[in-house]
Amino acid sequence: MGSQVSKADYYEVLGVTRDVSEAELKSAYRKQALKFHPDRNPGNHAAEEKFKQASEAYQVLSDADKRAAYDRYGHAGISGGGGINGGPFAGGVDIGDIFGDLFGEMFNMGGNGSQRGSRQQRGDDLRFDLTVEFDAAMFGSETEVKIRRLETCTVCNGRGSASGRGPTACAQCQGRGQVRYQQGFFSVARTCGACGGTGSTIGDPCTACRGESRVPKELKLNVKVPPGVENGTRIRYAGEGDAGRSGGPRGDLYVVLAIEPHDFFERDGQDLHCVIPISFPQAALGAEISIPAIDGDVTIKVPEGTQNGKQLRVRGKGIPLLNENGRGDLIVQVLVQVPRKLSRGQRELVAKLAETMAVDNKPASPSLMEKMKDLFN
Ligand SMILES: [Zn+2]
Ligand SMILES: [Zn+2]
Repeated sequence: MGSQVSKADYYEVLGVTRDVSEAELKSAYRKQALKFHPDRNPGNHAAEEKFKQASEAYQVLSDADKRAAYDRYGHAGISGGGGINGGPFAGGVDIGDIFGDLFGEMFNMGGNGSQRGSRQQRGDDLRFDLTVEFDAAMFGSETEVKIRRLETCTVCNGRGSASGRGPTACAQCQGRGQVRYQQGFFSVARTCGACGGTGSTIGDPCTACRGESRVPKELKLNVKVPPGVENGTRIRYAGEGDAGRSGGPRGDLYVVLAIEPHDFFERDGQDLHCVIPISFPQAALGAEISIPAIDGDVTIKVPEGTQNGKQLRVRGKGIPLLNENGRGDLIVQVLVQVPRKLSRGQRELVAKLAETMAVDNKPASPSLMEKMKDLFN
């Protein structure tokens, strides 16, 4: 590594002019180094080469003496030592100075910093979608559900190894979880591939869980749906998700409720809405009508002279209030029906009625039209 010294012009490599200031030089190098850093371009040799070139150029141009020598003699002025790594100024660089936090952050990107040195990992959170019938959601219910989740392997007690010896320090990284290698002037850290960054490996994996420390099992869970829940309600069961790896804590389980729509009731918060057809005589004379509410029939009074689209409120016949006493309301909208076909007798009666009703068929005001539209929506 580093034995081939690039002969590209150092100023061109960094994209700066020959009269570049120290600050500009630093910023130009930082940009290039971040762009072509091997951690950001894994396996990309062209990027690696550019990273090396930029590093080399900066090494020279950031040193006043070397820059002067380069300016005067070109590459010949500074490359006498048989390659940049073996040269007189190899290793004299403080990367912290130039990269600061930005590079610190990058080095951690694949580093699993929090897991290093331990195989323990919190189990995943699980989601279970439960469809609930309208009535069951309204008044509450209890359902048994079956959930597949990962349980700690009982054969190896979650240690993952057949002998029970448990994991041993990874030989590749000596338990550090990271391996460092030389990249030009830099020592670059990478997540250890042998142990996945955990710092330990299992030499004799348990046959039941293949060293995973967990196996899938079915959980039977009684889900209590509280009365009055809304569609999309999420019930959290803390610590009922997947078991953790190697004895790590369990994840959580979320049961998400999907409430089935009702044939003719529509829910609006804690109120229920429905549309009930009534006849013209019922609307004109008033009537008592019985409607099948969600928990038994309800008799409602249609007042005399009720207009089409009128909403009648039945208090306390809506949806139970979650965690409270009481219920929302049932709101009944009446739809006055005009008969499509009349018998001869009915026709005579309506005709007689018409004779007694003087109607002024002049156009209604736009505001009244709007109101009518609203009623039918
Ligand atoms: Zn096992
Ligand atoms: Zn390792």
